[in-house]
Amino acid sequence: MLDRDIQGRIELIIIGGGIAGAAAALRAAQNHLRTIWILGDAGTRKASRAAYVRNIDNMIGVHPDIVRGKVLKSLSRDHPVAARMVEEAHMHISTSDLVENARERIVRDFAGMVTEVAERVIQVRQDGALLSVEIAGETRYVAPAVILATGVSDRQPVVHRQKGDRTLAGIHWLFPFANQETLLYCIRCEGHMTHGRTVAVIGAGATAAEVSLMICERYDAPVTLLTAGEEPTWGERRQRLLAAMGVEVVAGRLVDVRGQDKGATLHGFTVEGGRNIDVELAFVVMGLYRVAHRIVQGLGVDLEENDLPEEERHVLVDADSETSVGGLFAVGDMTRHRHRPIMKQVYTAQEYAVRAVDKVDAHRRQVQRRRLLGED
Ligand SMILES: Cc1cc2nc3c(=O)[nH]c(=O)nc-3n(C[C@H](O)[C@H](O)[C@H](O)COP(=O)(O)OP(=O)(O)OC[C@H]3O[C@@H](n4cnc5c(N)ncnc54)[C@H](O)[C@@H]3O)c2cc1C
Repeated sequence: MLDRDIQGRIELIIIGGGIAGAAAALRAAQNHLRTIWILGDAGTRKASRAAYVRNIDNMIGVHPDIVRGKVLKSLSRDHPVAARMVEEAHMHISTSDLVENARERIVRDFAGMVTEVAERVIQVRQDGALLSVEIAGETRYVAPAVILATGVSDRQPVVHRQKGDRTLAGIHWLFPFANQETLLYCIRCEGHMTHGRTVAVIGAGATAAEVSLMICERYDAPVTLLTAGEEPTWGERRQRLLAAMGVEVVAGRLVDVRGQDKGATLHGFTVEGGRNIDVELAFVVMGLYRVAHRIVQGLGVDLEENDLPEEERHVLVDADSETSVGGLFAVGDMTRHRHRPIMKQVYTAQEYAVRAVDKVDAHRRQVQRRRLLGED
């Protein structure tokens, strides 16, 4: 139910509990904006990237060795056993770690500024000059500004496994490998891991061909391109480049993924007809399954212009991350600028989240100044 008591005091609503939502919430707390942060539920979380990016190692500053080095310095002389344990500890920084750390800092350092809600938003509506947010069939919160940070989901290759005389088609057999990062999704974040390994790229579009070429060019890794039963659309020039670089294209549906240690080791794939493709790493490059903007569709927000179905088109934003609907911002993987894409990266999500919150804050302060001077 709409809580009238806190209602008039809400200055910002953030929807999404991934990197972009967390960066926006931390900034909102630091700017002392009274904020409702809606993180989603188990279902939305499962479909988000925040849930399965386990090892961020492409950013300056985000690296366990920074803290490890400092801890070791303070331990080594008097606590050799503890020092050895820290030295040998396997530490990875995941997106969940970053989000949890932001949540802890908000609660500890900015008590009362941000109220967390672990539910799924059904719809965002215009409510006069305000925006209202519906959860579980009722309007729950109303505010002058909403930041949408609900992310995207990747399209996954289907594995058609034979069980007796039945064929079972599913994507879940791949999840353990994605969780252990032997199945990869982001060439910019994880491409460097392919050096010295055998690699499969799974996809049939121009981007799959480009990723295959890039891995050969940058990392000199042998690549097999698996179309997973789809018709290639990468064009004749890329086809010639693939051949020139020794990339073998293997058509046919995937019928098995092979590995061990709960996905930590990948042995390869089996394609229709029984051929085994032995590789140590694989990249899924099949495009997006969905950009999660359905909850703002009723507002008529502008989406990127292309031939893709509506659910695969990014939300268009300006330099401050504001959409075509005043007061509605969008940040993170779901966004793009009109004339250029926005990188799907932790640091860009953070940068544009900060821009959005600072714009909301600037607007609030302008309103206060006008009131102060009796200009309204
Ligand atoms: C395998 C992989 C590895 C990567 N590695 C790196 C890396 O090393 N370095 C790097 O910089 N980037 C990396 N990236 C990219 C980076 O992880 C993403 O850019 C970032 O996580 C996107 O964050 P986001 O907040 O936009 O979306 P998400 O993390 O997808 O978060 C979306 C959030 O919205 C919530 N939500 C969805 N719908 C609703 C709803 N209706 N109501 C309420 N909440 C909702 C979900 O619960 C979730 O909390 C990687 C990406 C992948 C896929």
